[in-house]
Amino acid sequence: PSLDEVLKTLIRDIPDYPQPGVMFKDITPLLADHAGFTQVVDALAASGRDSLGQTVVDKVVGIEARGFILAAPVALALGAGFVPVRKKGKLPAATFEASYDLEYGQATIEVHQDAFDPGDRVLVIDDVLATGGTVEACLGLIRRCGATVAASAVLLELSFLPGRERLAGERIDALLTV
Ligand code: 5GP
Repeated sequence: PSLDEVLKTLIRDIPDYPQPGVMFKDITPLLADHAGFTQVVDALAASGRDSLGQTVVDKVVGIEARGFILAAPVALALGAGFVPVRKKGKLPAATFEASYDLEYGQATIEVHQDAFDPGDRVLVIDDVLATGGTVEACLGLIRRCGATVAASAVLLELSFLPGRERLAGERIDALLTV
């Protein structure tokens, strides 16, 4: 099956999660399917390669928690390192942190200050692009560390939310837009 078919078949809608009125995109059926998971990891890894297939990034960032699941195999596929961006309070060494607004309340994410070497080129991976707040905060953290963002890649972009507008000027690759 095509990548499009895989994503449409194996990402399911869960109504009213995490709160009433929200239609949550659940990727667990995709993760449970070896062929589908392999196909999406390959497709996400393409965002870290040039047109000749050469890897052009040094680190792949995964955003907690579903981003971790996708970013780690992408890093291995690219021959790059993996860097976790985590929710506040989880990383043990000195961090930079960034706060951003959620629909209800605020979130804070962190990265280790020494997670990157100077000049590292970075691919950011998450599962879903919704309002764009998470990716925007993550890009700020990476740049504060002195690294360069090459691209961000997500499985699914929700086009009824203003994520792409918010991230105008950034390269955002989405495997599927709904
Ligand atoms: P944003 O900051 O773009 O509004 O939200 C994106 C973040 O929230 C991502 O880290 C993503 O994992 C999570 N998220 C928001 N909506 C959904 C959804 O419908 N499905 C999944 N799997 N994650 C979501």
